[in-house]
Amino acid sequence: MSVAREEFASTAALRETMGAYYRALGDAAERKSAPVAWCTSVGPAELLRALGFAVHFPENHAAMLGAARTANRYLPVAHAQGYSQDICSYLTSDVGAYLAGETPLSAFGLRELPRADVLVFNTNQCRDVRDWFEWYGRQWNVPVVGVNSPRSVGDVTEAEVDDVTVQLEALVPVLEAVAGARLDAARLAAAIGAARDASSLWEQCLLTATQRPSPLTFFDGTIHMGPAVVLRGATEAARYYRTLLSELQARVAAKSAAVPGEALRLYWDGMPVWGRLRALSTTFAEFRTAVVASTYCNSWIFSTLDPADPLRSMARSSVELFIARSDGPKERYIERMVELYDVDGIVFHDCRTCPNNTNTRYGMPRRLSERLGIPTLMLDGDVNDLRCFSDEQARTNIEGFVEQIADARTATARAARA
Ligand code: SF4
Repeated sequence: MSVAREEFASTAALRETMGAYYRALGDAAERKSAPVAWCTSVGPAELLRALGFAVHFPENHAAMLGAARTANRYLPVAHAQGYSQDICSYLTSDVGAYLAGETPLSAFGLRELPRADVLVFNTNQCRDVRDWFEWYGRQWNVPVVGVNSPRSVGDVTEAEVDDVTVQLEALVPVLEAVAGARLDAARLAAAIGAARDASSLWEQCLLTATQRPSPLTFFDGTIHMGPAVVLRGATEAARYYRTLLSELQARVAAKSAAVPGEALRLYWDGMPVWGRLRALSTTFAEFRTAVVASTYCNSWIFSTLDPADPLRSMARSSVELFIARSDGPKERYIERMVELYDVDGIVFHDCRTCPNNTNTRYGMPRRLSERLGIPTLMLDGDVNDLRCFSDEQARTNIEGFVEQIADARTATARAARA
């Protein structure tokens, strides 16, 4: 059964915003109009922008390879270099595509990946990002610098924030030398203010999904989060989210459902399966189930950024990040989301090559299910390696899960009538 869904009018503005970003990046790399820095998705992008760098985010590039379903062509190329099949398939598909001399950025006029003058990582999410950047650093003989963040953070301590602040401060002279410019305090405050504005608008967009019916799903969110990822610290991101928010608010007012006939609401934890976004979105919609919220899309809300306290507030955002936390704070966070979005169950994606953003392996689904009284589903898959994902298996599991929730509802209704 196919389900007719209304397209977002904002998608045109999204394409324009992302296209302008990629073209400016291409200009910087090919015409040397600005120095180029590579940055991990939750690395110190605001600092890089304040120093005048054009910023490339390899995770965004890898997600493009996944969404285009070309990643599996490139994985073996990196495996042949000694990079294991078990490590991050973002890393291996990106490195493989580089070695194959191909990039989806060619659609925006780039002849090749924008060559970095410096690569800046933050290990708050995983060690893989550092290994990834060091591969390119060796390839191009350019500096690789970054922040080695605390991981499995329980309650955030001032000592942990101090540690990251000191590391960010130490990056400044190194980056100034590459950029050939001094860090201007006003520009840094402006970049942090821009990131904060965009983050707040992105959060408001996501919060529209607390309404019934929800005007957007997790699958829509993974597409519309592009500017929050690649334009952090630039004013264009907030401009786009004003457009999207106004469309979402109009949809809420009109009770326009992202999933027609929305009957069930779910939460998604873990990475997207980029090559199967549309297929999964369609499958859930066929069962009149809206995946209304996710840890993934929420991870680009940085509420603690403060232009008046630039580096320390960046450090706090980095330490507080969901992926960097221990299971206690992660569970408390998901509990709050379950209540806020009023969901009937939680889907945990067991992402084969990303244990860092997979929360199925140390008993969390069972603990949350018992505590919250809602069922959880574990879906096997991967962020980019589609050999780890089966459409048939996923469909069978989703169908069984939806039936389980529906049966439980019927039983509760019967008990209430008895
Ligand atoms: S968090 Fe996971 S998907 Fe992202 S770079 Fe690290 S290992 Fe790869």
